[in-house]
Amino acid sequence: MKIKCPHCGANNQDVTEKDPCWQCSAVLGAAPTPVVASAGSPPAADSGPVQQVVRPKETPVSAPTKIPTDVPRGLPIIPIAVVIVIVVIVCAVYLMMRK
Ligand SMILES: [Zn+2]
Repeated sequence: MKIKCPHCGANNQDVTEKDPCWQCSAVLGAAPTPVVASAGSPPAADSGPVQQVVRPKETPVSAPTKIPTDVPRGLPIIPIAVVIVIVVIVCAVYLMMRK
């Protein structure tokens, strides 16, 4: 019986579903779904790390969201707060003088 390993895609000849794959030692019968076998992604340890390495390199490029745009937005808060405090003080003084 010829079975294509659903884990690594290796062809196993003269085996049963209870036998382990000669390449990845996974039980051929314990296969999840044939769809996964066609993709061959699970045991693909070679292509996996490569993609993961490439992605981190891209993220730092787009990461610089630390752009000083936030700083200008944050600074006006201080003057506004100062103005508000001054207005409150002026109002308080005005009310006190009114009495
Ligand atoms: Zn296998």
